[in-house]
Amino acid sequence: MHADVATALRLQALDLRAAELRREIAALPKRILEIEKALEAHTRRLEMDRAALAANQRERKKIEGEIQMHQQKISRLRDQMMEAKTNEQYRAFQDEIAYFEQAIRKAEDQILELMLEADALEANVRKAEAALQAEKKSVEAEKEQARARTLADKEELARIEAERKEVAARLAPEVLSMYERLRSRHYPAGDVLAEARNGRCMGCMMTIRPQLFQDVKSGERVVCCETCRRILYAEEPPRDIEAEMSA
Ligand SMILES: [Zn+2]
Repeated sequence: MHADVATALRLQALDLRAAELRREIAALPKRILEIEKALEAHTRRLEMDRAALAANQRERKKIEGEIQMHQQKISRLRDQMMEAKTNEQYRAFQDEIAYFEQAIRKAEDQILELMLEADALEANVRKAEAALQAEKKSVEAEKEQARARTLADKEELARIEAERKEVAARLAPEVLSMYERLRSRHYPAGDVLAEARNGRCMGCMMTIRPQLFQDVKSGERVVCCETCRRILYAEEPPRDIEAEMSA
């Protein structure tokens, strides 16, 4: 392989990895925002359940107060009834007492309903509290992980950017400018080089003229695909590149 093609391949590998890291660095805060939003929604939901439970308890206290008032009223009426002078008066007191007794029964039914509702609400609140506790822990862990990941990504990116400078400096200026031009104008995804395999450019899948294919394989000069303009490399050397990369 031509030395400049090997160097350009290294440059491409660095650029691809740098793009991946930048995408990840940009995506992590969004992920954090998402999980924080979910946590907020669950917290609000719990607050609503707690408010419903508190309203239920207030309502129950109110009705219990009413029952007490009715009972006091009944005991006063009973006292007054003792002093009734006529049957008519007596019956009137009886009717009034029956009215308040009926009101008490109705209130007791309401309390029973409220108690059933409270049981369900309390169960909801307890369940939500436990779930929220667990969620808070996992959100914290995930945030910590994201922070660590971002830091590691940024460090790796800095190393890659430093190495890129070195690699670019090693490249023949005309090959470097060709690479940069292809990347900025045609292949922003970073696939500036293409493998030449079985007489085809693997970038655009078009056939390469036999002479050109021969030139790619011999590595005597830098060859570009005549269709897509990508810099071509022959298929066997990538293993050497791997070795060079880890060296
Ligand atoms: Zn091509």
